Amino acid sequence: MTKLAINGGTPVRDTYLPYGQQWIEDDDIEEVVKALKSDYLTTGPKIKEFEEKFGKYVGVKYAVAISNGTAALHGASFAAGIKEGDEVITTPITFAASANCILYQGGKPVFADIDSSTYNIDPKDIEEKISSKTKAIVPVDFTGQPVNIDEINAIAKKYNLIVIEDGAHSLGAEYKGKRIGSLVDMTTFSFHPVKHITTGEGGMITTNNKELYEKLKLFRTHGITRDKEILYNKNESSWYYEQLELGYNYRITDIQCALGISQLNKIDKFLRRRREIAEKYNEYLKDIDGIVLPYQEEYIKSSWHLYVIQLELEKFKVGRREIFEALQAENIGVNVHYIPVYYHPYYQKLGYKKGLCPNAEKLYERIITIPLYPKMTDKDVKDVVEALDKVLKYYKR
Ligand SMILES: *Cc1c(COP(=O)(O)O)cnc(C)c1O
Repeated sequence: MTKLAINGGTPVRDTYLPYGQQWIEDDDIEEVVKALKSDYLTTGPKIKEFEEKFGKYVGVKYAVAISNGTAALHGASFAAGIKEGDEVITTPITFAASANCILYQGGKPVFADIDSSTYNIDPKDIEEKISSKTKAIVPVDFTGQPVNIDEINAIAKKYNLIVIEDGAHSLGAEYKGKRIGSLVDMTTFSFHPVKHITTGEGGMITTNNKELYEKLKLFRTHGITRDKEILYNKNESSWYYEQLELGYNYRITDIQCALGISQLNKIDKFLRRRREIAEKYNEYLKDIDGIVLPYQEEYIKSSWHLYVIQLELEKFKVGRREIFEALQAENIGVNVHYIPVYYHPYYQKLGYKKGLCPNAEKLYERIITIPLYPKMTDKDVKDVVEALDKVLKYYKR
């Protein structure tokens, strides 16, 4: 058996392969330079152009570009009217921002457990966790696999709740033939460099609801407006504006939106390559004993933000930690998505106890995210497979 790099052997790769990374080309750079040379660095025409193009792509009436995905979630929580005393149901298997946005508004995150096959929030447990205080649901399309939208919308209708879908992983993903972004009250997206398209930092909220759209626009700019239709004093001159809500400065720049437009032009290429790599993994990894590959519902089309494998720990002499560290030593940038949100000390101090969501907790012990991003070469994919094969065989019982 080949000596593991962690034990002093030669690593599978001599350079480190990250788990995710942007793909920026010369034409993207040219667009950014053009924006820099233009009259507007912020609050200019590129914002609207990006919003319109994005809205058209996901098939929705309104899109609001914002400074990042977390601000998008914050804005959606604001527009949903979440306030002190409200409970909002979300999943623990997500980035902390999906729950933090509820806290920003003074609401209380309530964690519903996941479905052990899709790893997405389980609609049955959402219904279990509903109380008279429940105001909204924040489902997350984990790894790019859309949640069960029909069931979640039916629950929302039955209990009069607002649905904010965290689509940070699911740009371009499809649910029953329709793209994510128009299927619930509001959907949020992130343009962090590891996501499907990037603006450096950036985000978007999409909705078909005009009222929510108006609130989102206010929220992005201090709650301030010059729109005559909603001003209290309509007879003032053109210098006049009013602050109607307590908003923030969550604006995105024209520089970023110029990059976003250029990136969005390549979304088909990015998605095709992500799906191709996922298929290669499905094919190459199915014969390696000791791992569970991602399960996909037949009525969805994933956008494959992440490729998460589950270790069948009973079959190994060591735990997830040793396997993770051995893969890192082989120069494979594995990661873990996610630590259940309520495990974080901040949430523990708020009174959340371990044991809340047993399926999520069990999953967390066993998962590893392997590299997946469109710029990866076929050789990179083979290196990941080789490293997994090498490490898992070595530690096999
Ligand atoms: C990336 C991400 C966010 C936050 O997006 P930022 O743009 O980094 O603020 C929120 N939720 C999920 C699930 C994410 O993956």
